[in-house]
Amino acid sequence: MKTIYKRRRLLSEDTNSKTVKGQKLGFLTGILYLAPGSLSGVNLCPLAEKAGCLNPCLYEAGRAAFTPSIPIARINKTKYYLENKAAFFHNLVMDIELLIAHAEKKGLIPLVRLNGTSDIRWENEYFDHIFSNGKTRSVNIFQVFPDIQFYDYTKISNRKNIPQNYDLTFSYSGRAAFKPFLDQAMAAGMRIAAVFHDKNNIPDKFMGRKVLPGDNSDIRHTEKKNSIVALYAKGPAKKDFSGFVVDNRPVIYLKAA
Ligand code: SF4
Repeated sequence: MKTIYKRRRLLSEDTNSKTVKGQKLGFLTGILYLAPGSLSGVNLCPLAEKAGCLNPCLYEAGRAAFTPSIPIARINKTKYYLENKAAFFHNLVMDIELLIAHAEKKGLIPLVRLNGTSDIRWENEYFDHIFSNGKTRSVNIFQVFPDIQFYDYTKISNRKNIPQNYDLTFSYSGRAAFKPFLDQAMAAGMRIAAVFHDKNNIPDKFMGRKVLPGDNSDIRHTEKKNSIVALYAKGPAKKDFSGFVVDNRPVIYLKAA
């Protein structure tokens, strides 16, 4: 007998200013926002403590800082994912189908980002899916939509068996405890996104690589691997001097009296 799951919306379509800018480039983005770190009681960001990114996380930088219902909704979605995976993935598939329909209507290309505020290895998340021929197979979400481009930022440098329709950008932190992961990502040639304090003082090169502007949109999958994507500190990140945000402020020399 076919199980009927309660319908629940999981993806947000272009609610973030950077993905809205992506529409000008021809893309419509659906993002899943879960509760970062251990806010739900289960840690969805295994490297957040080493990287020091939880406080300045986008979670606080976005609308969540001003709307108390948003963190609660994200915790509820996370519990749904943790406690009822079959229903969660059923709804996720429906949301991606909806995103594809909306994109088609607008003449845009759909993009899906599942780690809006989490760092889950989605490539390892398998669920039973009934295909249009009536056959059920255990698959990950990328296999259900082989023609759809997915992308994410990640602090996990050793993710393996990444599907060809899933693009990953490694997320920088300059903290000492995070260095082995950064070194591994650099050695693997991953594209690296780094948050800079001063948007007017972005270097041409960082860690020996060319720096590309990254705040004009969230479209990463078309950018070169082996590059650095510059993002600018917002919200609590502006006050972060722990190493997560790159301190590129100009040095001011004081005259001796
Ligand atoms: S790993 Fe990503 S989502 Fe998790 S706390 Fe750090 S910046 Fe936020």
